[in-house]
Amino acid sequence: MTRTPLISGNWKMHHNHFEAIQTVQKLHYLVDKETTESVDVSIHPPFTDLRSIQTLIDADDLPFALGAQHCHWEDKGAFTGEVSPVFLAKLDVKYVIVGHSERRELFGETDEMVAAKVSAIQKHGMTPIVCVGETLDEREAGDTEDKVLGQIDTAVAGRAKAQIASLVIAYEPIWAIGTGKTATSDDAQTVCHSIRERIRHLTDAATADAVRIQYGGSVKAANIAELMAQPDIDGALVGGASLDPDEFAKIIAYQG
Ligand code: PEP
Repeated sequence: MTRTPLISGNWKMHHNHFEAIQTVQKLHYLVDKETTESVDVSIHPPFTDLRSIQTLIDADDLPFALGAQHCHWEDKGAFTGEVSPVFLAKLDVKYVIVGHSERRELFGETDEMVAAKVSAIQKHGMTPIVCVGETLDEREAGDTEDKVLGQIDTAVAGRAKAQIASLVIAYEPIWAIGTGKTATSDDAQTVCHSIRERIRHLTDAATADAVRIQYGGSVKAANIAELMAQPDIDGALVGGASLDPDEFAKIIAYQG
């Protein structure tokens, strides 16, 4: 099974819509057409930028998929400040990040909320990027697999194999996000392999082989190639380094 790599830029709360347009235009100028024929690229700007970037991608037929950073699980209702997955689908959003550690740690997102969001995102024809990962304390206590595989179990429970096969999982050790520390490629591979094995155990070989697993945590141009050389790493969820089009273009062109 060959899985098309997916490189995703999570801009977090950076770049207003003017800056976002400039960044995407520059990125397009820097990335070769051949590169985006073999690598999927998604850009996850703040909500207020989505319409501007959708228009730009559409008008100039840019080889980038639009992504969102999270959403609510309900279609509509009295949820002040939240964003409906229906509205994201209407904006041609393809990928929605779910359960990013910042959402889990700062905004109390639980495994159960993550599971509800996964259902909502799939119901509206979009692809969830489900983030999982351990804290430094959990890692040092030897609890990485328990934590990560527990998060996987809740995210996939009760889903059909085809729904599981189309998920993107982002393994993001929390201690590596925005810290400049990256898991070694061997450590990242070990956890990504365990995730795939867990999915194989819960479903079957074909489903596990289809799931795309990203690594995230201080990915940059200098370390992407080594990470992508690992057999169970199919892409990267990139935070800080995706804000700079020069650096992000080099990450996307990791194949050289
Ligand atoms: C992220 O935002 O998911 C992330 C991994 O950030 P950074 O690349 O800055 O560590």
